[in-house]
Amino acid sequence: MNIKFTQITEEIKENRTITKPQFHYILESTDPEDAEYLFQAARDVSDRVFGKDVYLRGLVEFTNYCKNDCYYCGIRCSNQNAQRYRLGEEQILSCCDMGEKLGFRTFVLQGGEDPYFTDERICRIVEKIKESHPDCAVTLSIGEKSYESYQAFWKAGADRYLLRHETADNKHYGMLHPAALSGENRKKCLYHLKEIGFQVGCGIMVGSPYQTIDHIYEDFVFMQDLQPHMIGIGPFIPHQDTPFRDQPQGSVNRTLRLLAMLRLLFPKVLLPATTALGTADPKGREKGILAGANVLMPNLSPTDVREKYLLYDGKICTGEEAAECNACLKRRMERIGYHVSDGRGDHPDFVS
Ligand code: SAH
Repeated sequence: MNIKFTQITEEIKENRTITKPQFHYILESTDPEDAEYLFQAARDVSDRVFGKDVYLRGLVEFTNYCKNDCYYCGIRCSNQNAQRYRLGEEQILSCCDMGEKLGFRTFVLQGGEDPYFTDERICRIVEKIKESHPDCAVTLSIGEKSYESYQAFWKAGADRYLLRHETADNKHYGMLHPAALSGENRKKCLYHLKEIGFQVGCGIMVGSPYQTIDHIYEDFVFMQDLQPHMIGIGPFIPHQDTPFRDQPQGSVNRTLRLLAMLRLLFPKVLLPATTALGTADPKGREKGILAGANVLMPNLSPTDVREKYLLYDGKICTGEEAAECNACLKRRMERIGYHVSDGRGDHPDFVS
């Protein structure tokens, strides 16, 4: 066991800050024993805040139409091979009904930036979900909108919003997106969402093309400022029909170390072990939970559209029914000594 590594781990845990040299040191170490020490420290913190509870979010991927052209994403508008679909209001509602029967108390509506879904349509869907499931939280993950649109979603009853910032470095942002999109606007949206009152989630892809350790450190500095309620991180995985098809996949090991550091820095944050992590490693989600994550986001989308919402190649759980996924995840958690909670899983500061 490396003394310097354990000392740094204890310092991060104690002070809830990290310097750039410390950050490099943790990510550049290759010793599995060091990593295990870090994961144990992160588990201690999450056990203290959340016990052995893992929260579920039912993900409804309601449209794969998108007006954007992000270089990494399989549903970018220039991908002619994507088979486009959108779910109707009734279909979305029945996904949530089924989700509630399976014990979900949070629904995440995620999609491409699809102009068909006007603010009015989104608000109507949110209102209907809240009407049938008043005790459930509704999360939106539908990209960059105006302050007014976000306000309208909030008034309609949406509780949370997920918008990964992708990278805090504007130059790096420009290498991942066409010129029509800017890192500045993406970050501004997150501050707007927080101001309005949403529980807000940001995040990055680990190992996105051209990403350096210094970029990720910038992400940490940005998050220290934003103070998000959720942080979604998962490895970048190439998609064959994108400009990044030949770029290497992000590292699982690095993702786990980052999850653990985030837990030490943000003890109360909601931290998913993502589907991308489960795709990159068959035990990825378990490893994520054991590195300090406390959220899972199983898919509630109808089986016939799942393989069309392909952000990256090889995405897991596209063949199963929601009930199967749910049972599988419950078993996986029990096996590692954790327990799927039947609560809404709000951020501790939002629990009344
Ligand atoms: N349109 C919404 C939802 C985007 S999809 C929005 O703009 O927020 C959700 C997340 O999937 C993205 O924010 C991105 O971080 C991740 N993602 C997209 N393509 C990916 C890939 N090839 N590998 C890993 N994650 C990817």
